[in-house]
Amino acid sequence: MPISKAQVLAWLGNLDAVYAAKKGYLTELDAAIGDADHGINMHRGFSKVMEKLPGVADKDIGEILKTVGMTLMSSVGGASGPLYGTFWMKGGMAVAGKDALSVADFLRFLETGVEGLRQRGRAEPGDKTMYDLWAPVLTEARTFAQNGDDAAALAEALVPVGEKALAATIPLQARKGRASYLGPRSVGHQDPGATSSFYMLETLREALR
Ligand code: ADP
Ligand code: MG
Ligand code: MG
Repeated sequence: MPISKAQVLAWLGNLDAVYAAKKGYLTELDAAIGDADHGINMHRGFSKVMEKLPGVADKDIGEILKTVGMTLMSSVGGASGPLYGTFWMKGGMAVAGKDALSVADFLRFLETGVEGLRQRGRAEPGDKTMYDLWAPVLTEARTFAQNGDDAAALAEALVPVGEKALAATIPLQARKGRASYLGPRSVGHQDPGATSSFYMLETLREALR
């Protein structure tokens, strides 16, 4: 089964609710290795997204996802605003005109979004950023798309891969972003951005169940 527009809107609504609920937790994670604002940033950004959604709900999925990116770009400061802004914007542009997303379409959204994020942040694998969540998730999505065409099954498969990738950020030393200023003291903490990225997978799974 493909992903319907109603499911995309449900996904974004779920994500907004999770960013509201996890605002304190994400900020706590960022307090340990950053400047204690990641939860505040994501919550503010997605609150703005929810304000914008009614105005584009009759547009195609690409336009909706692009609007998410443009809204995050203009309402979230710091590192994560431009990074997530690029992800959603570029990903949305890659599925322009679609009223449903097949597994192949969703893979194109992910591939283009992650590539935009990587280029923007110049993150390499192991730098302890949100890219460390997306790189293995993308690999899994590519493998899945070779044989599978059920988007709900894809979302089920991505969550455990993301969970593992998220835990794998804990022992890493940060080499990008504010956390890198801490050097070896950044070791032993879960990356906040990888955590907020993981919620994108969990909320998609929930929307497709
Ligand atoms: P800031 O660090 O500006 O306060 P946030 O706290 O909102 O921004 O976001 C921090 C997160 O951004 C980090 O946990 C990390 O995942 C991500 N990040 C920072 N720099 C980069 C980068 N160059 N590439 C990819 N992700 C990055
Ligand atoms: Mg921060
Ligand atoms: Mg900040």
